[in-house]
Amino acid sequence: MKHCPECNVEYMDTATRCSDCDVELTLGPPIPEIPEEHPDPGVETVYTAEDPVLVARVESLLEEAGIEYFIKRPGGYITFPLLGFVVAAKDAPTARELLAHLDDALPDEPPEEEPGP
Ligand SMILES: [Zn+2]
Repeated sequence: MKHCPECNVEYMDTATRCSDCDVELTLGPPIPEIPEEHPDPGVETVYTAEDPVLVARVESLLEEAGIEYFIKRPGGYITFPLLGFVVAAKDAPTARELLAHLDDALPDEPPEEEPGP
């Protein structure tokens, strides 16, 4: 199977050029157009979380660091409530560094509190 890299129309293997665009066909099936899920080279997903507590911590960490982010919400083939934190590629290393310690900092049990009476 071949497809046109311009208009993404599917062609038989015997075809060599797109009749509409007059460009050489690319081997392989057409790439489905899913704009929301299409990987953008300018951004990277630096963290995924489904725990609302974690999500809130990630949000505040990124905000404190002044890193702009957006949250990729579940959709399409993702069937579980996993949220992806997406930042600009230039901020990704910083964000990863910040969030690398998140798991350490998040105890399974509540932090030590003042002993009750
Ligand atoms: Zn075409």
